[in-house]
Amino acid sequence: MHANILVLPGDGIGTEVTAAAVSVLRAVARRYGHEFHFEERLIGGAAIDATGEPLPAATLDAARKADAVLLGAVGGPRWSDPKAKVRPEQGLLAIRKALGLYANLRPVKPHRATLGASPVKPHLLNGVDLVVVRELTGGIYFGDKTRDAGAASDLCSYSVAEIERVVRHACTLARARRGKLTSVDKANVLETSRLWRETTERLVREEFPDVTLEHQLVDSMAMHLLAKPREYDVIVTENMFGDILTDEASMLAGSLGLLPSASLGDGKTGIYEPIHGSAPDIAGKGIANPYAAILSAALLLRHSLGLEREAACVEQAVSAALDAGVLTGDLAPAGRGVRTVEATRAVLENIEADCYVAELRD
Ligand code: NAD
Repeated sequence: MHANILVLPGDGIGTEVTAAAVSVLRAVARRYGHEFHFEERLIGGAAIDATGEPLPAATLDAARKADAVLLGAVGGPRWSDPKAKVRPEQGLLAIRKALGLYANLRPVKPHRATLGASPVKPHLLNGVDLVVVRELTGGIYFGDKTRDAGAASDLCSYSVAEIERVVRHACTLARARRGKLTSVDKANVLETSRLWRETTERLVREEFPDVTLEHQLVDSMAMHLLAKPREYDVIVTENMFGDILTDEASMLAGSLGLLPSASLGDGKTGIYEPIHGSAPDIAGKGIANPYAAILSAALLLRHSLGLEREAACVEQAVSAALDAGVLTGDLAPAGRGVRTVEATRAVLENIEADCYVAELRD
């Protein structure tokens, strides 16, 4: 297969972890006989420095033409003046909106080798396998904002159509998994949540009667996610609740450095990125955990390119590296972490070994 992949490294460790993910995609292409063409463009702080814009037109243009986008992370102290008119995060919000990527998938499946790295007790984590589907292009992050000397406001609004399309996406996913959907809202207080709940109930009843639906208020969900994470299969929620709950859910896996994400719309093109940020505290040191970015590349292979066998190969290669104890500093005991390049090399070696075994089987 031939595919055009746009790479947006962004800022901080974004450049380090996307380099690792690209090397993995190159290895997959080599081993499975695909032709991946990579083009690199600017986004975030790096783009502001070079062009004054967090999302230059050339980057958006390239994204529209690409089959998939691999993104690192944006932001950092250099661009974090709260009074600044132009900020790196605006680039992220704008590219998701422009490409119509309304469903953000964040799978959480703690690995046996890293159970000890989570602050949650290991016996609660065994068997956890959930996906959060976060609405990505609506809600309070995109509503009108006001500010004067004495007050500020952010408008949260959702239309029925916006709710339907993301819930439909989550139901389709639940149907292919264990058939359970948990919809998270704040229907006891917010009007948008009451619309969310009514719309979800109707849509599941009419289109997905085989999916088991439960509702959960966001505050109790924050508690249940830590107390009984095994009970969840697919969790769907609006933009801001999803943002917060997924960072909490990342702690089930032990580190932000292990969690990938896929942002999808109605077409094939998606943006694939680790859920972590640009980690300015470790940027440039060569010690960032590349697994979340590499697992994001696996999601790219699966969702945008339809290459399930290749995606599974990458996921197994990361799993084998974790099993072998190849852990970066965020997961290893103090002073015992490997460098980004060593973790990446372990994955590359496992991909070669895995493919060799696959060829033998063929
Ligand atoms: P962060 O995710 O960058 O870092 C939080 C902590 O986790 C840090 O201690 C960091 O060292 C560690 N960490 C994160 N990823 C890691 C990895 N791959 N390997 C090892 N350790 C890792 O969050 P933050 O510090 O709150 O934000 C830093 C900057 O990133 C801010 O400018 C923020 O706006 C931005 N940010 C961007 C995104 C994005 O691009 N999607 C997401 C979150 C934050």
